[in-house]
Amino acid sequence: MSRYWSDIVSKLRPYIAGEQPRIPGLVKLNTNENPYGPSPKAIEAIRQATDDRLRLYPDPAATELREAIAARFGLTAEQVFVGNGSDEVLAHTFQALLNHDLPLLYPDVTYSFYPTYSLLYGIEAIEIPLDHQFRIRLSDYDRPCGAIIIPNPNAPTGISLPLAGIEALLAAHPNVVVVIDEAYVDFGGQSAVPLISRYPNLLVIQTLSKSRSFAGLRVGFAVGHRDLIEALVRVKDSFNSYPLDRLAQVGATAAIKDEAWFETCRRKIIASRENLVRQLEALSFQVLPSQANFIFARHESRSGAALLAELRERGVLVRRFDEPRISEFLRISIGTDEECARLMSALKEIL
Ligand code: PMP
Repeated sequence: MSRYWSDIVSKLRPYIAGEQPRIPGLVKLNTNENPYGPSPKAIEAIRQATDDRLRLYPDPAATELREAIAARFGLTAEQVFVGNGSDEVLAHTFQALLNHDLPLLYPDVTYSFYPTYSLLYGIEAIEIPLDHQFRIRLSDYDRPCGAIIIPNPNAPTGISLPLAGIEALLAAHPNVVVVIDEAYVDFGGQSAVPLISRYPNLLVIQTLSKSRSFAGLRVGFAVGHRDLIEALVRVKDSFNSYPLDRLAQVGATAAIKDEAWFETCRRKIIASRENLVRQLEALSFQVLPSQANFIFARHESRSGAALLAELRERGVLVRRFDEPRISEFLRISIGTDEECARLMSALKEIL
């Protein structure tokens, strides 16, 4: 190891993003993107903003975007923080809010950025095992801790928790920050945003990458008590005061306002998911109950690794994770009905 590396860097296990190949014609169901494209109004807004104004720095506070998000959720702009994808919002959260003397709790099967950030920011973490049905059992979080982070729905299982459970967790831990990562909530989960007014320890993080189809624009946000938001702003301003460029701010604002496009796309994805689940079950897959824009499924007899490779040979990309407990599962993003049909015909050929 190079003597120039710090102790932390030498131990880091960076998050490995899903492949983004440039092979035309691939059915790309591996990184939970939305197949329907962003709101046409948002694309037009970006086009209109692409001019000489790009020589100017953007609004460091992203005021219009924060106001649009606040209006959408019945909050004030002081309760909204925006960042360059929810990954960056999560990074600032780990730095600003989770650096306690007591450990951070999160599920043992979950979004793999959490262990990476814990290591990067020197936060002790305890991974709480999922139950035998791959569910988060909230009673297991009843222990002394410095903070809790739970994705709802969880990733990569897709399983969601009822709001009553989240509320009980918040009430049981009034003195620790509870972060609910709602990257996938718009596909059938129950959002914790309405609990913000009653629980100052709650931070909810969402993204425009999934239900608003803007993974390429990189916009995520956190909502919560203004003191939590102020802590995030201080960390952001000590790191990069302009995380969201002009085009991202304009496009994201228009996307948040286009409720009709959002509603149409998310409904189509939910309907395709239910359809795909039925078809996979008919091919002897066990499919975990998903409220996300992906499903997590394993075949009763074929290994996950073999299926992944054989699907790839047929031009269909899905995702698999190496952790032993879930290594037989494939995570399949919900594509258009045509893409789902191509997945199914490839699987019928293989099985
Ligand atoms: N949280 C979870 C649970 C995710 O799966 C993802 C997507 N990889 C993110 C956050 C980050 O999304 P983004 O940075 O695109 O907003």
